[in-house]
Amino acid sequence: MRENDLSRKNRKGLIPIATTKEWKLLYFQHGRAGLEEGRQSVGLCRHCEIRDICALSRPESGVWHCKYYKALTKKKTNLYENVIKQLKKAEDIVHFDRDICKILAETMNELIVHFPVKMDDGNVRMLTGYRVQHNNSLGPFKGGLRFHPLVDIDEIRALATLMTWKSAITNIPFGGAKGGLQLDPADFSFEELEKITRRFTFALGNTIGPEYDIPAPDVNTNPQIMAWILDTYMSTVTPNERNRCIHVVTGKPIESGGSQGRNKATGQGIAFLIEKWAKDHGFNLKGATYIVQGFGNVGSWAARLMKKNGSMLIAVEDVTGAILNKGGIDPDDLADYVKEHGGVLDYPKAKPIDHETFFDTKADIFIPCALENQITAETAELLNVKLVAEGANAPTDPEGDKVLQRKKIDVIPDILCNSGGVIVSYFEWLQNKRSEFWDLKEVDYKLHKMIVDAYERVRDTAEEVKVDWRMAAQIVAVSRLEMVYKERGIFP
Ligand code: NAD
Repeated sequence: MRENDLSRKNRKGLIPIATTKEWKLLYFQHGRAGLEEGRQSVGLCRHCEIRDICALSRPESGVWHCKYYKALTKKKTNLYENVIKQLKKAEDIVHFDRDICKILAETMNELIVHFPVKMDDGNVRMLTGYRVQHNNSLGPFKGGLRFHPLVDIDEIRALATLMTWKSAITNIPFGGAKGGLQLDPADFSFEELEKITRRFTFALGNTIGPEYDIPAPDVNTNPQIMAWILDTYMSTVTPNERNRCIHVVTGKPIESGGSQGRNKATGQGIAFLIEKWAKDHGFNLKGATYIVQGFGNVGSWAARLMKKNGSMLIAVEDVTGAILNKGGIDPDDLADYVKEHGGVLDYPKAKPIDHETFFDTKADIFIPCALENQITAETAELLNVKLVAEGANAPTDPEGDKVLQRKKIDVIPDILCNSGGVIVSYFEWLQNKRSEFWDLKEVDYKLHKMIVDAYERVRDTAEEVKVDWRMAAQIVAVSRLEMVYKERGIFP
């Protein structure tokens, strides 16, 4: 076991206390009970992603234990299984071609890279990265890159598969892929993150490419990371090819070839779909209440754009904790606070609440925008809302989904609801290829049209086939892929 420097706080105000091979990093939240060697102690284990205080103990073996860690890890490993089960269910309901479903139930290519990076203190650290390409029958592989300590091949497979469905639903000419690095960016300096990103890009080599596989931001990655990827990729091609590969990533800063509206695109898509749902249901969004889990790119933009239609944010949860103010939380003000302090905890204009109270908060709309498997049988029982608009990928596990259906809570499923990101990524890719630059009005107009069209396809399929919206979205996606495979046949 290596003891870390107790005085080094990370960017979220959490103090690293220990690293073990098995349990990785455990953190105590700043200001909470300190570590007491050899005795039962309490703290916040960030790798469990549990915000409640959980018990940690250090037995004779010298290995740190956290009672939630294993259970959560087990749950995570079911993600890909869940995604494939959903495909099989669709196959049974609609009698899709079995051979085509066999193809879609597998990923095409999977790459795992281990690479060294020299840290600021001169030590070399080995890091592990992934890129999974699920399917490219509709166009180049497309999907985000995630930096998170719990990233593993199974999660990336699942997310890559969801990307194929998402591109298919929205009728954009992309396939599905996903990538990730197993790390917590909060543990590294800015300079170390740049080196890690560049070295990862180099390790990916020709696995990515502007006409082949195009990464974009996801959890803990942002336009800055995309700019480093672009620059590294450009530096490895011949000088006269450099400017022909600017579309190797999307979600870039505007100055480096990014699109207007890409940063807010996923949140904007969610807001457009909630407006459409409200219109369809004769529901007045003015004065409606909503709660948001995750206040990063997707959650903060969704929250801010919902404010524009007169709705009121009343509770937010992120990795640092949860807050509530029934009189309303200003999302713009909260976004400024989070930028400065790294999380919602201690936001002075709301009171802190625990995880259960957050889920139990009565509101009209819940927008989960954090990680997968957050809406479980237990948390779904607590929810007291009319609509769940899934900003995150796979935020609801199958047991949670059954509870939402029993409680007759409407769901705009992830592969439809958060597709605004990939739609505007497609616009960015097109602008780069054509050397064009569209203004925000044009981007928003086109996004609105494409995402609402997709919504209508899913809604109409749900009515026709008499299935829930999650299944309807799956059916729309697989129908398009099935058609393409049938038209083209299977080589040779
Ligand atoms: P982000 O890193 O910007 O934000 C993630 C947020 O989730 C942070 O506020 C973090 O504190 C919070 N969080 C993490 N673990 C949590 C936990 N256990 N409980 C509560 N909050 C937690 O990431 P993002 O880009 O906003 O992505 C969020 C989700 O949306 C992910 O599922 C991602 O795959 C999905 N998504 C993102 C995009 C995009 O364009 N960025 C597009 C489509 C889907």
